[in-house]
This record gives sequence, structure tokens and C-alpha cells, in this order.
Amino acid sequence: MSELRFNELRGEQVAYAIHRQDRTFLPDRDHCPLDATRPGGPETEIPLPAFEIAVFDNRFPAFESPHGAAEVVVYTDDHDSSLGALPLRRIEALMWVWRHRYEELGAREDVEYVYIFENRGVEVGVTLHHPHGQIYGYPFLPPVPALELAADERLGGCAVCSQLQGEQAEGARMLLGNGAVAAYVPRAARWPYEVHLAMASHRASLLDCDAAELRGLAEGLRRLVRGYDGLFGRPMPYVMAVHQAPTAGEPGRGHLHVEIYPPLRTADKLKYPAGSEQGAGTFISDVLPEDAAAALRQAIDRDAG
Ligand SMILES: [Zn+2]
Ligand SMILES: [Zn+2]
Ligand SMILES: [Zn+2]
Repeated sequence: MSELRFNELRGEQVAYAIHRQDRTFLPDRDHCPLDATRPGGPETEIPLPAFEIAVFDNRFPAFESPHGAAEVVVYTDDHDSSLGALPLRRIEALMWVWRHRYEELGAREDVEYVYIFENRGVEVGVTLHHPHGQIYGYPFLPPVPALELAADERLGGCAVCSQLQGEQAEGARMLLGNGAVAAYVPRAARWPYEVHLAMASHRASLLDCDAAELRGLAEGLRRLVRGYDGLFGRPMPYVMAVHQAPTAGEPGRGHLHVEIYPPLRTADKLKYPAGSEQGAGTFISDVLPEDAAAALRQAIDRDAG
């Protein structure tokens, strides 16, 4: 079982999940636990000879019932694929899976915030290469979404709507738009190539999106991650964070958006959160968001062309 302790100096929870030290770490190609189970082969986490998208409880959970949830979402049974390499209709199906998990986990008494995310690449500590994401059901509202809700209070309205309007008016950092979503490098991005992909209309969560919006979200996400892979001509490592309404407390707060934080500042140099970032909480970036946006726009256009 994991244990929560409250860090008084920071005003935030820390989760201790010591059993996770023993989790599967970069297994060789023939022992991937996220592959389909081959007939006659060893049983993997997915006891089927083939599958499209699979969801199951994390075997090494940071949170588990009755104090939250931790699930694994496997995007495909193709070990060597990636989110951007999948056909659009598969990514669209993934949006419906996300929506379903958000609804089901969010309905639980012990889940206050459903957090969908993906860690990609050894640079961000991935332990399994097979294309997959995760979902945590936190038994509390974590600090980052809480800060966004505090921004809504401070601004007297939706902070994401206001950021999106500002970015669209200025234009220099916009990357793509398709009616359902728009993507941009935020004016005050913390990571060199950070991008936010927001619902164009105010939608608190996946549950508020219609089928066309989910398709648009999938399409925007696909173009974006493909552009990322084209930027430096290598699979881009990143953390992808889906922010939406908390599932406890006052309903309907928040604005569904996806944030992507790649740790690279050049093709082969990492941005390390170090003294200023860790000890003072202030990011120092080597890349101007306008320049990052121009380079990313080119990469996205190259992929489309
Ligand atoms: Zn695999
Ligand atoms: Zn909004
Ligand atoms: Zn956010």
C-alpha cells in the first residue's frame, strides 16, 4: 500500500509507493508486459492474441482503491508504434477511452481528480517503451490543477479561455487549429518547446465534448506529436498532461486542455530543472516561445506537406 504524507512547508501531498522500486524496468524486446499474449508464449498483462486499446489497473500503483486509482492505457498492440504513428481513427478511439475512464473513475468516492498523462522516452524516466499512457485517480486535488483553478478566481473567469484568446489575437505562437482545438506555445512557457492544446470552445471536461470535438482533439494531438517528432528528426521525449475539471467539489470548473513538456532544448541537450527551478520555483529558459513556435510550425507543416 502507498502512503500519503502532507508536506507542510510546501502545502502539498507526497505519495510513498515503495513497492514501485521492483517494477519492470526496460525489459528486452521479447518480454514486454504490454504486448499481446502470443499463442504458446508467456502471458503478458493483456491475455489476448491481439487488441486495439487496452486498459488495466497498474500492477505497481501509486494510488489504489479505496484511496484513488492508477491505470495503464496501452494505445496499440504494436510495440514499435507511437501516438503520432497511429491512424487518426485509433487516436479518436483513444479519446473515447479517456472519456470513459474519466467518467468511471470520476464517479468514485475516493477519486477527486482524474489525471490522464503520458511519459515518453527514457529522458523522462519511462520504464516501458511500448506506446502507452497512464491515468491516476487522485484522492485529492493536486497542486497544478489547483493553481489553474486559482487563476480562474484571480482573473474572474476561465484562465484557459483568456490565454487562448490572447494567443489567437497575437498569433506569433499559434501552431495549429481545426475548429475543435487550437495549439500554441504559451507566452510564458516554462519548458523550451512546451505546447498547450486547448478546446477552442469552453469545455470543462471530455464529458462536455461532442463526437466532432473528440475527433478534432485527436486530429490536433496527432498533428502536434508528429510535428514534435519532426522537429529534431528523432522521437521527441515528453510528458503529456491532460488537465480538466476536478470530479469532486463544485462541478464544471476547469477547461479541458493538453499540455506537453518536452525536456529537450536542442536535438541532444536536456533542459534540467535545477537550482532556480527546483529551489526557487522559477524557470530559466534558453529558448524564446516565439522562436520555439516558429520551429514547431515548420515541423508541423513539413509533416503535412
Ligand atoms: Zn511491447
Ligand atoms: Zn474556458
Ligand atoms: Zn493546464
